[in-house]
Amino acid sequence: MVESYLNGASQFTNHLLKSMIDGFLVLDQEGLVTSANQAAAAILGSDLEALIGQHYSSFWPVELPSPDDMARPDDSPRQSTVTHFRDIPFTVTVSAGPGPSEAPGSWLVSMTGLADIERLKDSLAHTQKLATIGTLAASVAHELNTPINIITTTCGSLLHDLDGNNLGSEQLRHYIEMVERSAWRCAQIVTVLGNYTVDDTLQMTVTDLNMIIEESVALVGHQFRAEAPVEVELELCQEPRSIVCDHNRITQVVINLLANARDALPPTGGSIRIRSWPFDGSQIEPAQTEAEANLLAFSVSDTGDGIAADVIDHIFDPFFTTKPGGSGSGLGLYVAKRIVSQHRGRIWAANNADIGATFTVLLPQQQPALTRE
Ligand code: ADP
Repeated sequence: MVESYLNGASQFTNHLLKSMIDGFLVLDQEGLVTSANQAAAAILGSDLEALIGQHYSSFWPVELPSPDDMARPDDSPRQSTVTHFRDIPFTVTVSAGPGPSEAPGSWLVSMTGLADIERLKDSLAHTQKLATIGTLAASVAHELNTPINIITTTCGSLLHDLDGNNLGSEQLRHYIEMVERSAWRCAQIVTVLGNYTVDDTLQMTVTDLNMIIEESVALVGHQFRAEAPVEVELELCQEPRSIVCDHNRITQVVINLLANARDALPPTGGSIRIRSWPFDGSQIEPAQTEAEANLLAFSVSDTGDGIAADVIDHIFDPFFTTKPGGSGSGLGLYVAKRIVSQHRGRIWAANNADIGATFTVLLPQQQPALTRE
């Protein structure tokens, strides 16, 4: 129902206002609601009858200028949180202008509830997440197929040779190794799903970024040097270097990058350099944003062949690998990127001007959830 002064307007306008999903109110010179449509009553959580005669101050948010002030011709609609008549806060865009000419000094107020838009945003985010899980599930199914086929075929050959009594120990070892390799491959693939779905909760602690780097080098360094002459150089920042993060997961990121750097080196060896520094936005592209004010950066550089131009856009994709003979899982960078994103950080790769590649990671020193008052 649209009453009172709006009755003076044309029937068409009346009908239009009644059927609008935006709320409309007319206030008289005293600020009393003289007319309203059903949508306004719904936004304000009131019966239409109860709304008529209310003073606007009973639902007008204190932070909003009065309808009188808002109705200045140069003012655009403002967004504010209106207190619901039943004390439930929700967001609504409010604007005001002069009322119908039959009622001089009155104000026409319009209100657009944003609850539907918020719900839509939530549901879009949910849909996007499902789409990502769908893509991942399809990749997993595809990737599991190969090792499962190898296992079943190898077991078939094994049984066949056993039945024919012509299974030497050499051949038996070969079959077992094939099954073992494929089973490990399945386990790696399952790990990525576990990383994605099981527990997204980070175990945040205040820790020292340099300590994480040094521990990671201690964990894998000796293994690297046993395989080839690999020199690992550390160039770590002094203060400030404490960081709020999940120690184990960031360790996993560093180890994944170190393992890739080692794999990129030629069999004759080479060097890996790890740097850490307080991030200064001018140092790198893409440009710094406001949220990147307090960041620590670290990078892992190697003296390998670098990343080929036709693969660089895919290296963070799940199961993407260029490593020969099934030696790569294609999960290291995917998992690293996911962990870094969980920390609201960024990771990217670039080839060095002279030789090899550098992977850079930016991490906020504080996590927003922990800094909230
Ligand atoms: P994997 O190591 O199992 O192949 P990753 O996700 O860790 O899986 O790496 C994906 C691909 O990215 C590698 O196969 C390789 O082609 C490329 N890559 C990663 N690190 C480097 C590096 N330091 N130098 C050159 N290429 C790299």
